[in-house]
Amino acid sequence: GIAIQAVDLVKDYGSGANAVHALRDVNVSFERGRFTAIMGPSGSGKSTLMHTLAGLDSATSGRILFGGKDLTRMNDKQLTLLRRNKIGFIFQSFNLLPMFTAEQNILMPLTLAGAKADRAWFDLLVETLGLRQRLNHRPNELSGGQQQRVAIARALITKPSLVFADEPTGNLDSVSSAEVLGFLKQSVNELDQTIVMVTHDAVAASYADRAIVFADGRIVADEPHPTAEAMN
Ligand code: ADP
Ligand code: ADP
Repeated sequence: GIAIQAVDLVKDYGSGANAVHALRDVNVSFERGRFTAIMGPSGSGKSTLMHTLAGLDSATSGRILFGGKDLTRMNDKQLTLLRRNKIGFIFQSFNLLPMFTAEQNILMPLTLAGAKADRAWFDLLVETLGLRQRLNHRPNELSGGQQQRVAIARALITKPSLVFADEPTGNLDSVSSAEVLGFLKQSVNELDQTIVMVTHDAVAASYADRAIVFADGRIVADEPHPTAEAMN
């Protein structure tokens, strides 16, 4: 089934002669259980697509269908609840809270929702992401790679059905990148999760089973990865 779908999605920044056409009539759907990479040059609309799909940024026109509902018609309160319960984010800038430890940051989405952690899932995330020895450290006591891994654990702690990742391995060395991408791929399969990842890195994109290429606010290529094709 389809996890999220954009229909005739348009996003302009500004209006009139100064308008920037960040998304020009984008039609795309993301299926459940699939890991999609979004590629394309800087300024082509990749971040805008993710922010708009997630309801962080309002659309100029068009529809965004998620779980049978149109996100573009939801109010801020409905969008906040949706993001908190169903959507995970991994940003390029980690957005960790500096006063809190790694463990507190990872658990923050649950703390905000007043929910308890699934300890087995917490442990699996911590072990796989190599964070066991860092749980009591604050962000400024962690390397960039460690901070990104904390941000990934935080994004996945609620087992969201949909995950948006913006350059998740941008600050990681190749060994950590491979671990993180392997983990995301495994998570897609085990949780029947949908992951949409913006990346400039062809190696990172090779972990995905579909690659979409953006240019100037439009999708100019949309291809299944060969390994995904072989599996179908
Ligand atoms: P990418 O993620 O591919 O680098 P973006 O989605 O960030 O591209 O940007 C697409 C276009 O929209 C670019 O021309 C960018 O400058 C513009 N843009 C993005 N965000 C804003 C904003 N908040 N205000 C004005 N223009 C923006
Ligand atoms: P990157 O391409 O490195 O992912 P972005 O293009 O997404 O970075 O920019 C980061 C932030 O700056 C985003 O919040 C985006 O909305 C904003 N932004 C991008 N381009 C512009 C712009 N031309 N004017 C204002 N804000 C912008």
